Amino acid sequence: DLAPVRRALLSVSDKTGLVALGEALAARGVELLSTGGSAKTLRDAGLAVRDVADVTGFPEMMDGRVKTLHPNVHGGLLALRDNKDHIAAMDEHGIGGIDLLVVNLYPFEAALARGADYDEMIENIDIGGPAMIRAAAKNHGFVTTIVDVEDYVALIGELETNDGQTSYAFRQKMAQIAYARTGAYDAAVSNWMAGAIGENAPRRRVVAGQIKQTLRYGENPHQSAAFYVDGSARPGVSTAAQHQGKELSYNNINDTDAAFELVAEFDPAESAAVAIIKHANPCGVATGSTLIEAYQKAFDCDRTSAFGGIVALNQPLDAQTAAAISEIFTEVVIAPGASDEAKDIFAKKKNLRLLTTDGLPDVLERSMTVRQVAGGLLVQDKDAGFIGMDDLKVVTKIAPTEAQMRDLLFAWKVGKHVKSNAIVYVKDNATVGVGAGQMSRVDSALIAAKKAERMADVLGLPEPLTKGSAVASDAFFPFPDGLLEAAAAGATCVIQPGGSMRDAEVIAAADEAGLAMVFTGMRHFRH
Ligand code: 5GP
Repeated sequence: DLAPVRRALLSVSDKTGLVALGEALAARGVELLSTGGSAKTLRDAGLAVRDVADVTGFPEMMDGRVKTLHPNVHGGLLALRDNKDHIAAMDEHGIGGIDLLVVNLYPFEAALARGADYDEMIENIDIGGPAMIRAAAKNHGFVTTIVDVEDYVALIGELETNDGQTSYAFRQKMAQIAYARTGAYDAAVSNWMAGAIGENAPRRRVVAGQIKQTLRYGENPHQSAAFYVDGSARPGVSTAAQHQGKELSYNNINDTDAAFELVAEFDPAESAAVAIIKHANPCGVATGSTLIEAYQKAFDCDRTSAFGGIVALNQPLDAQTAAAISEIFTEVVIAPGASDEAKDIFAKKKNLRLLTTDGLPDVLERSMTVRQVAGGLLVQDKDAGFIGMDDLKVVTKIAPTEAQMRDLLFAWKVGKHVKSNAIVYVKDNATVGVGAGQMSRVDSALIAAKKAERMADVLGLPEPLTKGSAVASDAFFPFPDGLLEAAAAGATCVIQPGGSMRDAEVIAAADEAGLAMVFTGMRHFRH
């Protein structure tokens, strides 16, 4: 199953390691074919190279759009070396076999990341490269395909081990990698176009990404993991600059994303906002006139859980807030910028990771979410649902006051980011109890109230902050029981989607308990 490498075609945009590879191949007596820029790099290093133009009998033309798209190239890559007819065709048309293809593509993803305009993006769509990669990889019975600079070393090792030949297993492995590359490449092109034209239907989209980072491990140490980026360059954990601290872990990335998406719900032009996250759920969210005020209020929601948490801010981190955050162990802080003084304060906390971004994610942007099930992927529009004052319907005898309305909408925004069943108590623009991820809505209401009681003890308050709070439920109350637990905890007004068979019963219970309740008509399940 060994296949000799006598002729190689090298055509790379990223010239890293090209000369060393060319030298190693030349030293083995491999004939080198190459395209314009790659040939020049090799020649400048003193290597003998034959131009592909010489092989095709056509010059490279149309700004490089047509270089290698020719039967003399594709015949050389695709011909089965053990098929008489294929050999005869090669002889008849003077096609020489190409045993090794080394290609990396026009840097489409890099152009996307730097925000290139439409025409520039179009010019960065490689045509001949993927065509050759797909041809060579198909013919891995005889041809070796290398698409990643990182694999040059393995290739040279392979040729050394096998005396100028490659093994079938190696060629097969490289072919698999090759198709991963062309698949991800076209996915990046398609997803970029989807963004450009506003195509969002999941069935028209392709789920793929490019590896950004191999992670030390996954959710647990016995799971291997990696971080892929989708090329959208959305502000957030995938594009953030890390200023200090260890590499982010799988769980860090997941939690930091949850934190930043939540805090981005709050317009930085209106107020400072802070979200503290543990295991992807908020254990405190607050707004204030300053970040420090918002942080203290968020911290007071559940100080116990905030330990080892992830903190997201909607405004650039300042020194005072940095100092307050430094007082307890925090894993990650993410903000749209940080002052130099804030960075200096964090510099003393070696294990704290500070991430800064160029802005906040647009929470109303239409994009996709993906999750895996056995044998498949579930794809949906991201939950960009938004409820404003005008969408609310008062269903009880009494209507919420203006202050209650404000806290209800605050609780609703937070509830969208809490795992179902979600119950969120809010008072004065701060969460005061969060019940997350319970199988029963009643339990979520109870757990949040219990936490508030514990915090009252910690803070030395006469009564839990849930007294006189607004409460949000991410989905309707199927029975009055959950609502009554919230009322028992001290909630005086309720926001929920409505739509239960027993809405009338639930509304009657609210009226009897003296609650004001509004329906949103929209649900925010999150599993
Ligand atoms: P070079 O720097 O050698 O001039 O160009 C190398 C790049 O050209 C590689 O990224 C390769 O994938 C790409 N390429 C090779 N043949 C063709 C072709 O026929 N059309 C287009 N558009 N790109 C090609």
